[in-house]
Amino acid sequence: MQAKTQQTNVSQTLSSPRILSLIDRFMRYVQLDTQSDPHSHTHPSTAKQKILGALLAQELTQMGAAEVWADEYGYVYASIPATVQTAVPVLAFCSHLDTAPDCSGTHVQPILHHPYDGADLVLPDDPQQVIRMVDHPALKRHMGQPVITASGQTLLGADDKAGVAIIMEFAQHLLTHPTIPHGLIKLVFTPDEEIGQGTDKLDFARLGANFAYTLDGGSWGSFEDETFSADGMTIEIQGIMAHPGAAKGIMVNALKIGARILQSLPPAGWSPETTADREGFVHPHRIEGNAETVRLEFLLRSFHTPDLAVYAQRLRELTESVLLQYPGASARYMVHEQYRNMKEVLDQFPFIRTNAQKAYARAGVPFVQEPIRGGTDGSRLSFLGLPCANIFTGMQAIHGKQEWVGVADMSSAVDVLLELVQVWADK
Ligand SMILES: [Zn+2]
Repeated sequence: MQAKTQQTNVSQTLSSPRILSLIDRFMRYVQLDTQSDPHSHTHPSTAKQKILGALLAQELTQMGAAEVWADEYGYVYASIPATVQTAVPVLAFCSHLDTAPDCSGTHVQPILHHPYDGADLVLPDDPQQVIRMVDHPALKRHMGQPVITASGQTLLGADDKAGVAIIMEFAQHLLTHPTIPHGLIKLVFTPDEEIGQGTDKLDFARLGANFAYTLDGGSWGSFEDETFSADGMTIEIQGIMAHPGAAKGIMVNALKIGARILQSLPPAGWSPETTADREGFVHPHRIEGNAETVRLEFLLRSFHTPDLAVYAQRLRELTESVLLQYPGASARYMVHEQYRNMKEVLDQFPFIRTNAQKAYARAGVPFVQEPIRGGTDGSRLSFLGLPCANIFTGMQAIHGKQEWVGVADMSSAVDVLLELVQVWADK
């Protein structure tokens, strides 16, 4: 497929073979539609994800990777044999094949802007879509460098094809430079991360890794080993029903109780719209029911897991104090675990972070450790027995039409991975 380019003399002005190769890979991968589907009941959720998987398997075979395997569930596995004889933990590098269901991923037309000169990037298929440096300060780093955007009608898919391209480039480099000392390296590309099913059918035995890094982070230098801990809580209010014409002194309306409970939440703090950084919150995200029964659904989030029980108890007390004004009404409380802060696992293996820190330094990349106000495949992998942190890819403004990526950031991530495998192999 032919991609649009803003400049025709790209290969003359871009002299680095690494940069050219990353551009070529990335532009090819994003043009394959791999959107996942949250309403599907199949694995993978969409068969088209396997098309990219098959391409990667073919490219991995061609570059000489071992044990290349694309399975029926859409996962692609490969190995790069060790170049040292000493015992080194087996590392896996992981990125996801699918793109987010939030925005169209059909007929993605990547545009290479090179050299990026700081001017507004007006996306031609929808001139309303303008990527401005003032809104995207991370663009500053890419003055004079190649930047890739979509054309205005779709997302770009840098989440996570930037990660895919980085891992593929890294694999190619290791396989053509066997003098680089490293242990056994495993690669895995997963489907359906965006719909929370990226680890559902992962074959941990086939992967056979001790520790992992996902390539699914954002800004240059970011390193993520901490996520929210998350519970869901449902409060079910039971009122008392009566015929409205003869309800005096009998009816207790559950809808009104539900409204009072929501109103009793503090107006400042303790909500997504009033918190940031390391603050937790409760978030009523769904209400359903009728005058007799109402269900209120809450998301409970904190970086400190014991807070979740405190939050649940506080919601319970708020509810009970409202119920005091409605004799005869009652409430049931249900809490279910959603995911846990991966730091609880990763703190037991501090070298996952310290080795990354060394690799970032050797690659000349700042080490910016940030907690994620959400969850990732990495948290699931960590609790399933494969401790896993997340490395940057350069993807920006993800899941929308203004998504973009700077190729220099992708190249920098390849440098980090090449240093990282050597740090792990150091005695
Ligand atoms: Zn992602």
